[in-house]
Amino acid sequence: MSIGKLILYTGDTSPAPPAIELLTQSLQELELIGHPIDSEANSFLPGDSFLQLISFVGCSPNICLTPQTESDFSSVTIRGPFLQPQLIWDRNCRPPRCPGCNKPIPDWEKSFNGSTLNCMRCGTESEAGDINWGRYAGYGRMFIEINNVFPGEATPVDLLFNRLKGETGVEWRYFFTGHN
Ligand SMILES: [Zn+2]
Repeated sequence: MSIGKLILYTGDTSPAPPAIELLTQSLQELELIGHPIDSEANSFLPGDSFLQLISFVGCSPNICLTPQTESDFSSVTIRGPFLQPQLIWDRNCRPPRCPGCNKPIPDWEKSFNGSTLNCMRCGTESEAGDINWGRYAGYGRMFIEINNVFPGEATPVDLLFNRLKGETGVEWRYFFTGHN
């Protein structure tokens, strides 16, 4: 079980995100990731520069540096690229604001069909990519999941975003999910 995740994602869905092999190679060159974890596909141990690229507050560095058990490790898992953008959200995600009436959309999950959602107040149909999800969800085609991070207790440094953009040609953003 993970205590939570920090997830980087391709905020801009065009141009297309890179192939997973290319992104893996880039992340290894940046030393965000190290050796692959045999038991899980596209999962890696933290690399030598992990703590320079992800800024932690609180006690989280102890978790990734001296794990008590294997599951405490801040492993990194790459997911995608997906043909269509995917929405990944935290279970405690606040109702997003409707771009039409600027009010929270109640029961948004019920009207979400994978790409659009409807506001019951004003009837506006919105693309998930046009919603401001804050740090509670991300809508994109590629995700870099950093496991065992308490939501809000880690921030990717600007250098990581700059170098990711340089390597992949697309913008990256981040959000958190709680344990599940
Ligand atoms: Zn509305």
